[in-house]
Amino acid sequence: MNKKKLSYKKALQEKKGVDNEIPSLNPAFKKIKNSLDIPLEQYIEEIKKGNVVFLSKAITLIESTNPQRFEKGQKILKNLLPYTGNSIRIGVTGVPGVGKSTFIEKLGKKYTSAGHKVAVLAIDPSSSLTKGSILGDKTRMEELSRDPGAYIRPTASGNALGGVARKTRETVLLCEAAGFDRIIIETVGVGQSETMVHSLSDFFLLLKLAGAGDELQGIKRGIIEMADLIVINKAEGDNLPPAKLAQKAFQSALHFYPPKENGWQTKVFLASALENKGIGKVQKEIDIYIAEMKKNSFFDRKRKEQEAYWLHKTIDTYLLDSFYRRKEVKQAIREMESMTANNEITSFEAAEIILKKFL
Ligand code: GDP
Repeated sequence: MNKKKLSYKKALQEKKGVDNEIPSLNPAFKKIKNSLDIPLEQYIEEIKKGNVVFLSKAITLIESTNPQRFEKGQKILKNLLPYTGNSIRIGVTGVPGVGKSTFIEKLGKKYTSAGHKVAVLAIDPSSSLTKGSILGDKTRMEELSRDPGAYIRPTASGNALGGVARKTRETVLLCEAAGFDRIIIETVGVGQSETMVHSLSDFFLLLKLAGAGDELQGIKRGIIEMADLIVINKAEGDNLPPAKLAQKAFQSALHFYPPKENGWQTKVFLASALENKGIGKVQKEIDIYIAEMKKNSFFDRKRKEQEAYWLHKTIDTYLLDSFYRRKEVKQAIREMESMTANNEITSFEAAEIILKKFL
């Protein structure tokens, strides 16, 4: 082949891509890119040191649906378990717009300026239902997010609230291992999310607004019993008198509830997150609660009960999941639905037939 022909042929050939040949400026950085490539020991050491880059990567692993990543996340968590539990877990709930972000930012700042390390996590039930987000798409807690003593983790998402709960719970543990000693878990008062946050926290705070005498209407059953403190937010200016009325209404309503087993009396406070008023009092109330609960041993008891609750919950979620995912179950459900609709079979019989397919 003459030279001319050769170069012509060469020109038609594809060259090897050059991307791979560019040397990485920092080989260590390139390595860090893939969370799976980082050795387990490094995760553990760095998280224990409070390295938030590694903490974030580990959280992403436990949130992952990829089996390899998930497994790595679980290994990290397992190794870090001895370093968890040393925080106060504070649940905050309230309807959208009540001022949760503003309030949490101010409370968070109080904690960081007292030398605490604060992690803020959120459970957003809307993301699992609509893929939209009540909590996620606002610019949130800008000041706190710039604070080196704070770590804000955007909402865990998932198809089922149970899955979101697991991720949030494991995220709490990872944050504790990283030295965060105040963990604030936020949720919107939608669906079952408050019950879930309540079962993840030591102290449960309900934020409310003053309404025109309808404070107690539209409030979900059970939520008052769950609250360890009710805070009427936006209690400033013209809103102060109605806020005081709301405070009275809640206070007298609380008398109708049976006393709590742990002896705690839920109070109703006023605050203005915007004007940074009343936040210190809330902070103190949380401290008093924790001190009392540690003294009467309800603190440990509650955590143990929560562990048991999540054990059962995990089994429930797993069983339901594997039940409804089975092909033969899906088919049987379709068949039985039309049979029950035509009165050919009772729903009990139908359920038994479907369950037999699974068992
Ligand atoms: P979230 O949806 O519950 O997280 O509520 P945000 O913290 O995002 O607050 C909703 C709106 O209420 C924002 O415009 C806040 O600036 C405002 N806001 C929050 N706290 C207060 C407060 O104490 N007083 C007043 N006047 N406005 C507040």
